[in-house]
Amino acid sequence: MNVGDRCRLDKEHLWHPFTPMREWCAEEHEPLALVRGEGCWLWDQEGRKYLDGNSSIWTNIHGHGHPVINAAIKEQVDRVAHTSFLGFTHEPAMALGRELAELAGLPRVFFSDDGSTAIECAVRMALQFWQQNGRPEKLGMVGFDAAYHGDTLGAASLGGIPLFKGAANHFGYGVQRVKDLEALRSLGVDVARVAAVIVEPLIQGSAGMRLWPKGMLKELETWCRENEVFLILDEVMTGFGRTGTMFACQQEDVVPDFLCLAKGLTGGYLPMAATLTTERVFEGFLGEGRAFYYGHSYTASQLGCAASLGSLRVFREERVMEGLAAKMEVFAGLVGSLGAMPQVLEVRRCGMIAGIELRDQPPGTGARVCVAARKFGLLTRPVLNTLVLMPPLCVTHAEMGQMVEALRLGIEEVCG
Ligand SMILES: *Cc1c(COP(=O)(O)O)cnc(C)c1O
Repeated sequence: MNVGDRCRLDKEHLWHPFTPMREWCAEEHEPLALVRGEGCWLWDQEGRKYLDGNSSIWTNIHGHGHPVINAAIKEQVDRVAHTSFLGFTHEPAMALGRELAELAGLPRVFFSDDGSTAIECAVRMALQFWQQNGRPEKLGMVGFDAAYHGDTLGAASLGGIPLFKGAANHFGYGVQRVKDLEALRSLGVDVARVAAVIVEPLIQGSAGMRLWPKGMLKELETWCRENEVFLILDEVMTGFGRTGTMFACQQEDVVPDFLCLAKGLTGGYLPMAATLTTERVFEGFLGEGRAFYYGHSYTASQLGCAASLGSLRVFREERVMEGLAAKMEVFAGLVGSLGAMPQVLEVRRCGMIAGIELRDQPPGTGARVCVAARKFGLLTRPVLNTLVLMPPLCVTHAEMGQMVEALRLGIEEVCG
């Protein structure tokens, strides 16, 4: 099949996420079909190569086609690809559970499929825990403005970005929304009815890479303990080294009641998620007729577990976290230099995550800059007019330089 036909079939049959499909299907729009990846590089159908500037939508950790992860998946698929976790167990899940528990300091691991289900699962556990442990009035959930926790109806209800919840912001269930810690503290009597607070630690991704003030997470943890409210941390984006520590919460010495992991769990190779929790929560589900009534067909997929174990092995063997400090410094200097451009309002950065916000530009400019940057060998996506750079952790200094240069040229071309 030739290139034209491939794209014709896309326009005839496929439907893309978050995508205005009339524009996508328009005659003049030529979709980019990616065919191969190696390290931080991706190749399109015509052999052009690009740097993967947003880690394939925030998932990839050690680069594409990593031999250790590839081998882990191949070995597993030759044994068995998938078996039910309902009524059975298997070695890759056991090994992965133990490793995650050790890394996070939370002993119980519940597997699911993606970020949204990891969140759903934490919320359902929190609600059911209070229901069956003497506090049935605790049904309320608190989330922060501009938060993003995924797209299933439950996860979307927790989010604070109206666009993702129907035009009138009325899909899903009611969630108390607060702007910051101060607003949380002034909730007053309602607090007794709150089951859990959910937050993206250190940095809100889909809000446009917005940083929380230093110390906020620790204060939030203290507030939760004092008020008998569970703390759910959404580390779907920040997990697995992205912020400079294995998990973002470790920077403020916080251990939540629930830790939600997904995107980078498998190194960005397969869909898989985990919700980690405490022994206290687990024990609240023990006893007569009690079970956590939740699960998915592919819970603890053997292939996903194998890929995740492969990724954690790469962390150890390549001493990824040890090498990150120097890399983050270079990254900070490079993306920071974009802040001197007159077209740039602000550069926000946390570890290997950066948001470059454009100054006074019409809506859609961020997207146009990213399309322009393709010509200079970079693939990434913005959040509105905030450009995102979030390279795989294996990125080299030279590759970081090329990414930033491509963005600079893209900004100059589009914003003048
Ligand atoms: C991507 C993301 C999610 C949702 O994960 P999916 O795998 O897309 O369902 C949830 N929370 C955060 C912080 C995310 O970045």
